[in-house]
Amino acid sequence: MSKKYNPYDEILTTLEQAAKKLGLKEDDYIQLKYPERELQVSVPVRMDDGSIKVFEGYRVQHSGARGPYKGGIRYHQNVDMDEIKALAVMMSLKCAVVDIPYGGGKGGVTVDATKLSNAELERLTRSFATRLFPIIGPHTDIPAPDVNTNGEVMAWFMDAYSTLSGYLTPGVVTGKPAQVGGSLGRRDATGRGIMLMTREIAKQVGLELKGARVAVQGAGNVGGTAAKFLKQAGCKVVALSDVSGGLYSDTGLDIEDIVTFLRARRGRTLAEYEGTNFERITNEELLSTEVDILIPAALENAITAETAPGIRTKIVVEAANGPTNSDGDRILEEKGVIVVPDILANAGGVIVSYFEWIQNLQYLKWDEEEINKKLENLMVKAFNDVWNTAEKAGTSLRMGAYMVAVDRIATASKLRGMA
Ligand code: NAD
Repeated sequence: MSKKYNPYDEILTTLEQAAKKLGLKEDDYIQLKYPERELQVSVPVRMDDGSIKVFEGYRVQHSGARGPYKGGIRYHQNVDMDEIKALAVMMSLKCAVVDIPYGGGKGGVTVDATKLSNAELERLTRSFATRLFPIIGPHTDIPAPDVNTNGEVMAWFMDAYSTLSGYLTPGVVTGKPAQVGGSLGRRDATGRGIMLMTREIAKQVGLELKGARVAVQGAGNVGGTAAKFLKQAGCKVVALSDVSGGLYSDTGLDIEDIVTFLRARRGRTLAEYEGTNFERITNEELLSTEVDILIPAALENAITAETAPGIRTKIVVEAANGPTNSDGDRILEEKGVIVVPDILANAGGVIVSYFEWIQNLQYLKWDEEEINKKLENLMVKAFNDVWNTAEKAGTSLRMGAYMVAVDRIATASKLRGMA
């Protein structure tokens, strides 16, 4: 029987190891083991048939030591408090690793969003925003998109919050469409960051990006965009999958065409894609495809004791949050696979969210070139911080990233006199 993983406990184990390697006393980091606030709400929604359904919603504010809580909102049938807590602590670590002035939070609703009409999705979002109203705000807690939420959902969320506030408050969420206070470059930011981190790790290990074989699991906002940028950087994206299964082409997939197809309508999957020059594969086959770079960009626990033994890659760049559990991680390490950890690799989204928020608070508008350059600067600096810390401590990049993050959060707490 396979072991039951509690994602929150898994992160705390790594966090404690990092704290010990840093030589911290338990008093210096004990607060990080407990979210500062956990809220569970009921989310009533009038369905199109006139009936009322009540969904469960969550918002966890993990650490506010370095700034307002920041983190996405997920709509998925598997969302529960443990998952949201894990994603919230990950956000505290992520914001610290890339050194932006935020703490960490996360929210979600337990719902299969693919089964809702657009109107139901809007009413769900407004209901959830109303329930969260007392604890969120541009200076307290700033949500953003995550799995099954996007710019449109953020616009509804902001509108509901603004209606309750009595004035337009764009800074309450990030990831909005550009026409309502969103930042240029935000939609592509996480995928662009994945490309940048892939480029940096390839440079460090002497892998030529041009012609490198890449497999991407997950074809959503992050996976689809990362695949697009990696192809532009010269990689050959040979495999791409989503919840319906995957596509494989030895000569490289037509990523632009596939992504354009998927984005044309919400809920579209790869199973409906009818191009030529590829064969259909399962998600398991995608993970064991022989490649240079594997990008898990779907959900948690893709790389586990069951799947890791079959993985044939030199590098894993974690685009999803928590795609590798502790067993998977250990097996990859034994196989000599280099892992660029999630809290560094997928931080592009929260970095440009930070830029969006600055623009909102100051009523400014930056151009896209400036945003992309600022994103690259922050990400490359974070990569070097993590690489150097890991080298010095003789650890994995995951441990290096946790060490950088825990050190920054613990220092902030100490200076504030909280610890
Ligand atoms: P999304 O909803 O746009 O896409 C998710 C993708 O994963 C879809 O293609 C879906 O079909 C696929 N998927 C779902 N279940 C699957 C399964 N069992 N097997 C294979 N594929 C499956 O979500 P997203 O925003 O792209 O987020 C993906 C991951 O990246 C999540 O872990 C999220 O937390 C993380 N992330 C997102 C952002 C962001 O800016 N959106 C930022 C940082 C991290």
